[in-house]
Amino acid sequence: MRKPIIAGNWKMHKTIIESVDLVNDLKVSLADVSPDDITVIVAPVFTSLYAVHEVLSKHWIKLSAQNLFWEEKGAYTGEISPSMLTDCGCNYCIIGHSERRQYFGETDESVNRKIRAALHFGLSPIVCVGESLDQRESSQTFQVIEKQIRGGFSDISSLQMGNITIAYEPIWAIGTGKTATPEQANEVHAYIRKLISQLYDSKTADQQCIQYGGSVKPNNVNSLMEKPDIDGALVGGASLEAESFTSLVLGTLKAYSKA
Ligand code: PEP
Repeated sequence: MRKPIIAGNWKMHKTIIESVDLVNDLKVSLADVSPDDITVIVAPVFTSLYAVHEVLSKHWIKLSAQNLFWEEKGAYTGEISPSMLTDCGCNYCIIGHSERRQYFGETDESVNRKIRAALHFGLSPIVCVGESLDQRESSQTFQVIEKQIRGGFSDISSLQMGNITIAYEPIWAIGTGKTATPEQANEVHAYIRKLISQLYDSKTADQQCIQYGGSVKPNNVNSLMEKPDIDGALVGGASLEAESFTSLVLGTLKAYSKA
């Protein structure tokens, strides 16, 4: 039985005070939600992580970073290590977001190194994969996803896959207001699950949490979460306000029921 995960990627938004205000609001608006039914994660900017951790201490909402570097320490100006993130209270880290691949040159190889480092230091990776509009329109979606999964998960064991969340995020749907239809999204999720079954085994594939990301909003969350292979969402824009993020959590709880 899989449990859905809703994660809010705040990207490069919010000061420390704004971040703390938002999690305080979420603690109130999600008061009736049980962590037995859903995992809720927030991913603030680095400068807000520790302050948010303090507000969330002893609360069930989990904390994620948006990126990391694979070395533990050293002369890597501007980078942050996995152990520094756990030191700030992080449980998760988003890895290989398309904005990092697109603007900061991340490759499947660097994604793989980051995944292995995160796991080594006890962080659960949320690994993003997804095709561009050109790739979708030239029927390369499955090829692109297969390459990202094979490269990203090279040398990762089935046991380790249990600590990994995959986020399918078609690049053309991120921040554009253009969501993949539930059918389009589920088709790729089912493909990823089949690939995991081939690379590992059917038990690993059945248990694999695969989130959808790309303009998930309160008005489309239910139809996406009803689909059999969609296990929650990685959310950008709609995670920046307590009201919309709470609607996504409640909508997911209502629509998600997978044996
Ligand atoms: C994201 O940042 O991963 C994302 C899916 O953004 P948005 O929900 O704004 O499309």
